Amino acid sequence: MIEVVWFKRDLRVVDHAPLAEASRRGPVLPLYVVEPSVLAGEDFDACHWTFVSASLRELRAELAARGQPLVVRVGEVVAVLRAIHAEYGIARLWSHEETGNGLTFRRDVEVGRWSRAAGIEWRETPNGGVVRRLRNRDGWARRWEARMAEPVVAAPGRIVGVTMAPGPIPEGRELGLVVDRRVGAQVGGAVAAGRLLDSFLRERGLRYHREMSSPVTAGESCSRLSPHLAYGTISTRMVVQRLREQAGGMAWRAFDARLHWRDHFMQKLEDEPAIEHHNFVRSFDGMRENDFDAERFALWAEGRTGYPMVDACMRCLRETGWINFRMRAMLMSFAAYHLWLHWRPAGLHLARLFVDYEPGIHWSQCQMQSGTTGMNTLRIYNPLKQAEDHDPDGVFVRRWVPELGTDGYVAPMVEHAAAVRQARARLSEFRGRGGARAEIAAVVKKHGSRKGRVRGAGEQTVLVFGEG
Ligand SMILES: Cc1cc2nc3c(=O)[nH]c(=O)nc-3n(C[C@H](O)[C@H](O)[C@H](O)COP(=O)(O)OP(=O)(O)OC[C@H]3O[C@@H](n4cnc5c(N)ncnc54)[C@H](O)[C@@H]3O)c2cc1C
Repeated sequence: MIEVVWFKRDLRVVDHAPLAEASRRGPVLPLYVVEPSVLAGEDFDACHWTFVSASLRELRAELAARGQPLVVRVGEVVAVLRAIHAEYGIARLWSHEETGNGLTFRRDVEVGRWSRAAGIEWRETPNGGVVRRLRNRDGWARRWEARMAEPVVAAPGRIVGVTMAPGPIPEGRELGLVVDRRVGAQVGGAVAAGRLLDSFLRERGLRYHREMSSPVTAGESCSRLSPHLAYGTISTRMVVQRLREQAGGMAWRAFDARLHWRDHFMQKLEDEPAIEHHNFVRSFDGMRENDFDAERFALWAEGRTGYPMVDACMRCLRETGWINFRMRAMLMSFAAYHLWLHWRPAGLHLARLFVDYEPGIHWSQCQMQSGTTGMNTLRIYNPLKQAEDHDPDGVFVRRWVPELGTDGYVAPMVEHAAAVRQARARLSEFRGRGGARAEIAAVVKKHGSRKGRVRGAGEQTVLVFGEG
């Protein structure tokens, strides 16, 4: 009988409790399953596979050095497990808990059903600060702190393996994915994660607080750990502990807070999986659903809106797979308010462009920047002001929109003031409807932060309109 360690969004050997525990029990099969259903998901893109496959190659080498390389199989998880069980006999299945999209949630339900029927115990361990089956947010921040303070689990020294062909780690084209031609996208693997953390804490992060908002400086001054945290090549706990050991004091509080926000936002999807598809406040249903304009969407998605800052951000994102928080918020706000596009198709487009796509953060943020969560300050970003404030010399815009100032650049597709006025009027109408207020109060009670620590993330319980 063998212990199967199922790797998902936790592609590391350090701080991997399931791997450490399983290694103490008996022969271990470390397994990664490439799932066709996930690859076919609307939110999936080849850039995700590029990052994951590089991480898998490194993980395979790390595990091989300990006695058992990573086994990779292409197929649906239950079918893969069933075949392994028939041949080897699975004593236990080990994994981290996952807060993923609806597809992976349903797959986990199937795996649970199958393992119970087969008499196999499935042991799941939390992978960060998200709490399963949470009743409400009282005491959540305290629990998060306790999780982050738990000792980092050492990588197992030696793993007793099983005799099984490891199987190839497929290239994207072998999986039928389009060739990922991005240049400058981040590279996967725990080594890259460790280097980023080192350079950020040693030097890059010293200017974090001042430079995170401008796309000119953010690429260097932000940690750039997001895809690594999303695919688990480093754990949040490892980052929090290193940060607090090495870089105490005020200057680092902004970064510390964002690591806390990460799980705070993911907890929302864990508690309310429907927010991947439906408005947080259901009283807003119908607000944008029937107004989708494919032509407007295409201009936004291709970076041809005629607003240089919006277009520069979109084009940068398309080429590199990353843009900083403020510019993500501006892109989403422009789609939702200026173009009155529903957050779901706009969010799917961004999900496919972000190498760091993390469903829990992503769908909460997409809804927040579209005004459908009820619990946040409604902030409409003014793309002209954002350019003045964060790219005053036009360095960023000229780099990504070289045709600016020539006849080749398009005219603005909408007029800012008029579009914002119309968006406000439509939102006010829905907010004023009977039932909306009571529902908003219930959402705030269930999902709102109790500590006010997430204010900077745009989360407040006051309902005001801001433009910035
Ligand atoms: C519309 C929209 C969609 C987004 N989608 C994603 C997504 O799919 N995946 C993702 O990781 N982030 C997402 N973010 C949040 C944020 O923009 C990124 O986490 C950040 O820009 C990543 O760069 P970094 O690692 O250098 O961040 P840093 O500023 O160095 O922050 C460190 C880490 O803290 C977390 N974090 C930072 N800002 C936030 C935030 N506002 N909310 C929650 N967690 C945060 C991330 O894990 C990040 O890696 C989204 C933001 C918006 C407005």
